[in-house]
Amino acid sequence: CITVGVLALQGAFIEHIHMLTRIPQVKEAIPVRTEEQLNSVDCLIIPGGESTAMALIAERCNMLEPLRAFVQKKPTWGTCAGMIMLAKEATGAKRGGQQLFNALDVVVQRNQFGSQKESFQTKLHLPELLGDVPFDAVFIRAPVIAEIKSPKVKIVGRLEQKHGQTEAETAVAVVEDHLFATAFHPELTNDNRLHQFFVDMAIKHLEQQ
Ligand code: GLN
Repeated sequence: CITVGVLALQGAFIEHIHMLTRIPQVKEAIPVRTEEQLNSVDCLIIPGGESTAMALIAERCNMLEPLRAFVQKKPTWGTCAGMIMLAKEATGAKRGGQQLFNALDVVVQRNQFGSQKESFQTKLHLPELLGDVPFDAVFIRAPVIAEIKSPKVKIVGRLEQKHGQTEAETAVAVVEDHLFATAFHPELTNDNRLHQFFVDMAIKHLEQQ
């Protein structure tokens, strides 16, 4: 059994914690706000929210460097704004650059689908992770992957490819070694299969270390 941390500086962290309480292999799910709490968890979820705010709060709380070090090695799942934070590069920020945790070898495009009004829900096929039964994916001012920089990054979920789009631009769920990222909000549904997937992935990774 493992202890899962959910970064609780900003955003939808409570919902993740509730989901994790339904996963049998999770001993404890704790909100993470300090370096001490971060050091006590086996793996981490970075929730959705607003990545500029999350980066600023992380900086102010002296959590930027500890988080950067953590995500280099330990299993981490970023959802929506969390996916942006995990990336090595992000584009589309209104006022220039923002701090990131610099781990996932992709370029993320923020707010790809436009404003809040363009938020949507769709049945997403994630065959490598969940077999035949689609996942009800909620996209809220979601990012997409604009560019994949390493062959180690595997696309495990994609939207339909539109005219003029590259394959990377359809990617809304990727795995790279110990990292998992989804552009949508799996904690806002009743379906805990992706939380189960992440916990299984984390356990496998921790056993190998
Ligand atoms: N648009 C937000 C950002 O750029 C992400 C939205 C979300 O997490 N639902 O950080």
